[in-house]
Amino acid sequence: MVGLQQSKLIDQLSTGSGRGDLKIRFLGTGAAEGIPSFGCTCQRCQVARKTGGPNARHRAALLIETASCRVLLDTPPEINSLLNQAEVFDLSAVLLSHEHFDHIGGLVEFEYWNQVLPIFAGYDVLPKLRLTPRLESHALLSGFHSHSQLHFGDLTVMPFKVVHHVPCYGFAFEEAGVRVLHFSDSSSELGNLHYRMLEGADMAIFHTPTFEAHRSHTSVQDVISVVQDCGLQRTVITHINHNNLLHEELVRELAPLGITVAYDGLQIEI
Ligand SMILES: [Zn+2]
Ligand SMILES: [Zn+2]
Ligand SMILES: [Zn+2]
Repeated sequence: MVGLQQSKLIDQLSTGSGRGDLKIRFLGTGAAEGIPSFGCTCQRCQVARKTGGPNARHRAALLIETASCRVLLDTPPEINSLLNQAEVFDLSAVLLSHEHFDHIGGLVEFEYWNQVLPIFAGYDVLPKLRLTPRLESHALLSGFHSHSQLHFGDLTVMPFKVVHHVPCYGFAFEEAGVRVLHFSDSSSELGNLHYRMLEGADMAIFHTPTFEAHRSHTSVQDVISVVQDCGLQRTVITHINHNNLLHEELVRELAPLGITVAYDGLQIEI
């Protein structure tokens, strides 16, 4: 039943640029606890339990796909069921943004992945990963530095540092001249380099657990300021927690500003 509800949610958005065939699939769009958060009886968790739909959010992971590759960004604890539900049976690589449990807690699930799996993380994130002996035997673990370039088929990926309370990386994805920036768990402290990268980006994705200011993450209000300051063409928010507004309330606030509110199953072609 849950699968049926989820599949009804999948829709497609297109920029109509026609320049590339980059596709982003949001597998999970919840912050650290997911929504509903277990043990929580707040109004938003109750709504998520009762009605599901876009107000129920698994923890954040997404796929970047082109005609020649499929890359998974982050491995939340429920990655096994997320990939099964999305009917994903092969991956070119896994990218890990940082060490927090909601981003790497499902890595050990790949113990049962039946192919050799390239896994990439920052050199300062690699020591935090815990692999089982079986996973070690078929994982190709590689480190990256900020601003290095990784190539998967026709997709180029450039990791870049963001400010978080542990080492953390955003990623610039580029294919056929289309560039998407993913800021991962970033604080609102964006540097000149980040603003330079945002100039001319076709899309930017931000993690916004809360609507109002948050210690170590961008908030929805921060993203609204960035969109207005930089004139971003297209912006998506994800990694949303149960203290934020309900999905439909967020859409009502943000659609007029050209900001898309991601939900589990959303696909964007750009
Ligand atoms: Zn997180
Ligand atoms: Zn709650
Ligand atoms: Zn984090």
